[in-house]
Amino acid sequence: MINLQDLDEDQRIAASAPRGPVCILAGAGTGKTRTITYRIAHLIDQGFVSPNRVLAVTFTSRAAGEMRHRLNLMGIGGVQARTFHAAARKQLLYFWPQVAGNLPWRLLDNKFQLVGRAVRGARLESQTEKVRDILGEIEWAKASLITPEQYPERLGNRTPPAPAEKVAEVYQRYENMKATPEGMLLDFDDLLLHTAGALENSPAVAEEFRQQYRSFVVDEYQDVTPLQQRVLDAWLGDRDDLTVVGDANQTIYSFTGATPNYLLNFSRKYPNATVVKLQRDYRSTPQVTGLANTVIGQARGRVAGTGLELEGMRPAGPEPEFAAYDDEPTEAREIAGRILTLIDQGVPASEIAVLYRINAQSAVFEQALSDAGIAYQVRGGEGFFTRPEIRQALSQLIRASQRDVDESDLVRLTQRTLVPLGLSSEEPTGAQERERWQSLNALVDLVRDLVAATPDLDLTGLLLKLRERQEEKHPPTVDGVTLASLHAAKGLEWDAVFLVGLVDSTLPISHAIKAGDEAIEEERRLFYVGVTRAREHLVCSWALARQEGGRKSRKRSRFLDGIVLDLASESGTPRSNRPQNCRVCGSVLHSAAEKVVGRCASCPIQADEQVFEALRTWRNDTAKRENKAAYMVFSNATLMAIAEMNPTNENELLSVPGVGPMKIENYGDEVLAVLGHR
Ligand code: ATP
Ligand code: MG
Repeated sequence: MINLQDLDEDQRIAASAPRGPVCILAGAGTGKTRTITYRIAHLIDQGFVSPNRVLAVTFTSRAAGEMRHRLNLMGIGGVQARTFHAAARKQLLYFWPQVAGNLPWRLLDNKFQLVGRAVRGARLESQTEKVRDILGEIEWAKASLITPEQYPERLGNRTPPAPAEKVAEVYQRYENMKATPEGMLLDFDDLLLHTAGALENSPAVAEEFRQQYRSFVVDEYQDVTPLQQRVLDAWLGDRDDLTVVGDANQTIYSFTGATPNYLLNFSRKYPNATVVKLQRDYRSTPQVTGLANTVIGQARGRVAGTGLELEGMRPAGPEPEFAAYDDEPTEAREIAGRILTLIDQGVPASEIAVLYRINAQSAVFEQALSDAGIAYQVRGGEGFFTRPEIRQALSQLIRASQRDVDESDLVRLTQRTLVPLGLSSEEPTGAQERERWQSLNALVDLVRDLVAATPDLDLTGLLLKLRERQEEKHPPTVDGVTLASLHAAKGLEWDAVFLVGLVDSTLPISHAIKAGDEAIEEERRLFYVGVTRAREHLVCSWALARQEGGRKSRKRSRFLDGIVLDLASESGTPRSNRPQNCRVCGSVLHSAAEKVVGRCASCPIQADEQVFEALRTWRNDTAKRENKAAYMVFSNATLMAIAEMNPTNENELLSVPGVGPMKIENYGDEVLAVLGHR
């Protein structure tokens, strides 16, 4: 049942406050989400409100599901937990006939096409990137409650993607085009606008709604837009049974129009509000919170009320690590190796995340993880092969294979095929173009790897290999490592977090650097969000060149200044990047699997084949019995290392790379028995 003893004193004050306005202003991992879940449970348990009269708003539908799940565990069902959009959509479906009679409407499913037409109507160039930028601008304006007429004068210091009057014209045309003879087309923002409008303009609708919903809770309130706030105000009317929680230091959606001001001004709007600050971070070790405090402590122009200092409540853990690598493929391979080691030490793969700034960065890590045999899932952004530009690229290559093309240099052929899709020799500056460019380049890199591995590959063979890759990318979704952008990682937590690609112009991203200080500060907060996702293990890494052998012209993220020494300028190779050598032939090892075994894949195996096979059979049986993926018990690489080193006791076993104390505890006896030492 609901036991408020599961909360600390400050959390309890917030959870058990009487009905009415409550505001929790607190840092990452301090239990905000947990506290509001308990608050809902407590209000229901005490009979202040019934479950179906509560509306909880979360930032993602995943978070909504999580909240319902946690409430169910406490024996409470029937609470509505939704995103603003999902809640508005449901309400509009219900109230539409009352406000619009039988005027039909449907959700606009291809906004891009419509905006494209509006762009052409306004006689602007309509390349994909331009349309996308203007579309983003219209979304910002709508979320900020700015009409087409107001747009030019409400721009402030924003740089519009086209002359302001032109953007306003496109915006107006777009709005007009949604009224079709067959009925209204509504985009996502319209759902919110019309919901607020229905409640504001129709007393009957408002009364019915307010009869139904009495108590409101909003998570991640620092990232609410004026449009969402208007919906919230319409829901409430003149009532004040509202609990909000947020952390201004985690405002990372300003570019969509979101603002922390509603959170920071809450107690001005509701002078009788219970305001609680939480500082104890239950998620992370003091080592992680120490770094988080330093990162956010360097923020410029911090808003009053955001000067929270996190106190890590978990037992001490490892220091965060920083690692510079020569190039991205090396960075990805090394990280995959680290992940393999963590898994071997007993950290579940589902408790490990690789976080990056933009989705295109996932490609090289997807590749490295799949090479190392590690299952993964890509969150918030589709997997590499389902990206539109990659799908287009593959179909162009298939088309090329049907023509009579010169197949002598497949890498060049691929490059030439991808030029019309946006592969230029210079890295473009626009965010969207850059992301596209990076994934096209990642595809070229992949082709280069495949060609290197199979020198006599022809185009059909290459397409088959790409198809294989694509099909392998349907990994089991359970037990996998998470790949996610920093934006998509909001509110989540993992035992081990790898913050990768920390180079200037990726974090902070180039367009933020161009836009100036405010935008750069938002990027810093994004870094802070990343750091605070880790419970225990945290590794920050970056690569000095993009490609293997490329010019090392990149600079690590400016946010690391004052946090780590400039590793690149130190003499020699940074420690974390020191090559590891084969124990047979002494040459430098490359792949993660080779490093775990400590031997080149091509060097003769030093182990008795039968011993290795016995270990493998034991491992597979154990995995089956425990219902896990085989590599979660021991990876093949680790089994090989065990077979080669033939440890005779637990201490020796512990010295095998990839075997940690957890593994000894779980499997030590059995492994030694298989080796005949027990
Ligand atoms: P974020 O700012 O990232 O959204 P948050 O403030 O919402 O973080 P939660 O996700 O609610 O934090 O909690 C972080 C972790 O700390 C969770 O694993 C949660 O279960 C745990 N936690 C919170 N409060 C307590 C507590 N009083 N005792 C033990 N664990 C707690
Ligand atoms: Mg939270």
